[in-house]
Amino acid sequence: MEINSTFFFADSKVVLGYIGNEQRRFYVSVSNRVRRIRQLSRPEQWHYVPTDRNPTDSGTRSIPATQLSTTAWLKGPLFISKPTFNLSEPKPHCLVDPESDSEIRPKIAAFASHCSPVWLEGHRFTRFSTWKTVRRAVARLIHISQSFHRSNTNDDCNGWHYCNRPFPVEALVQSVNIIVQSAQRDIYILEFSCLSENKELPKNSQLRKLDPFIDNEGLLRVGGRSRKATLDHSDIHPLILPGKHHVAVLLIKHHHQLIHHQARHFTEGAVRSAGFWIVGGKKPISRIIHCCVVCRKLCGPTQIQKMADLPRDCLSFEPPFTNVGLYVFGP
Ligand SMILES: [Zn+2]
Ligand SMILES: [Zn+2]
Repeated sequence: MEINSTFFFADSKVVLGYIGNEQRRFYVSVSNRVRRIRQLSRPEQWHYVPTDRNPTDSGTRSIPATQLSTTAWLKGPLFISKPTFNLSEPKPHCLVDPESDSEIRPKIAAFASHCSPVWLEGHRFTRFSTWKTVRRAVARLIHISQSFHRSNTNDDCNGWHYCNRPFPVEALVQSVNIIVQSAQRDIYILEFSCLSENKELPKNSQLRKLDPFIDNEGLLRVGGRSRKATLDHSDIHPLILPGKHHVAVLLIKHHHQLIHHQARHFTEGAVRSAGFWIVGGKKPISRIIHCCVVCRKLCGPTQIQKMADLPRDCLSFEPPFTNVGLYVFGP
C-alpha cells in the first residue's frame, strides 16, 4: 500500500494542547515526551477523537472475541470512513486551563528596560526643596551609573552601593548641566527640535528674542550680540532656564540666600552672574521673596505698641516740682 498521509488521534484534549503548544514551557517529564512526539510527528497531524469512539479503548478492556467485530478495534471509528470526513484543515489545539495545570511552568515575564540616552523628567526634581540637595542627588546618580562601567573589581564603588566618598567636583558640575538640560527639555522641546533642524523658532516662542543656540553639551544658551566681548563664556551666553520650572525656583532661592536676602534686583543679578538666564524671571523672584520667611521678618513693618494710661502724678494740678520723675527709656 502506498501511504499518502498519516494522521494521529487522541481522546485527551489536554495532551493535544501540549503537543500543539508554542507559548508555554513544561516541567521536565512532560517536556521530554512532547519533544519526542514532535520529533516524530507534526502538531497539525494530531486530531481529537471522542473517548466513546476511540478504538484503543477496546484494546484496554476485556471483550469476548465474538463481539470484537462490533467494536471500532478493527476498522477504526465510523466517522473516518465517511466521505464527508476531511482532515485537510486541521484546527489548532489550545492548552486546557494552563493556569491550574501542574505540568505547565508558571509564566514568568522578564522586562527589558530600554533607555534612550535622554534627560531626567522634570517632575523628579519636585521632590527636592533645595538646589544643594538636588545637585548632590544627581551627582550621586552620576557616580552610581559610572560605577557600573568600572572594570576594576577591587574598587568598592561597583554597581549599586552606598558611597561614603566625597563628591568629586566634576560630578557636581556635570549634575548642574543634567538638571538644567532636563528642565530645558521639559519646557522647550519645540525650540530644541527647531534649533537642531536649523529652522526658525515659532513666532510665539518665549525664546525668540534671546536668539538661543544649542552648545556642545546639548544645553540651550542665550545668543545675543556680545559674542566678541572679552568676558567668560557663561557671562556672554548664560544658560536658559524656564521661570515656571521647579528647578528655577530652587536656583533663585539658593542665590537669594547666598546674597543674604537682599531685594529682587540683587537676587536677579546674583542668578545672572552665576551664568543663568531665567525666562520671565521677575515674577518668580518677586514671588519667592514675598514668601521668604527671613525677608518677611527683616522687611516687615514694625508693630505699634498701644501705650498704657499716664500716671496720676502727670495729670494732677499741683505746684511745680511736687513730684519729680525720670524716664529711663526713650530719647
Ligand atoms: Zn562610590
Ligand atoms: Zn529672603
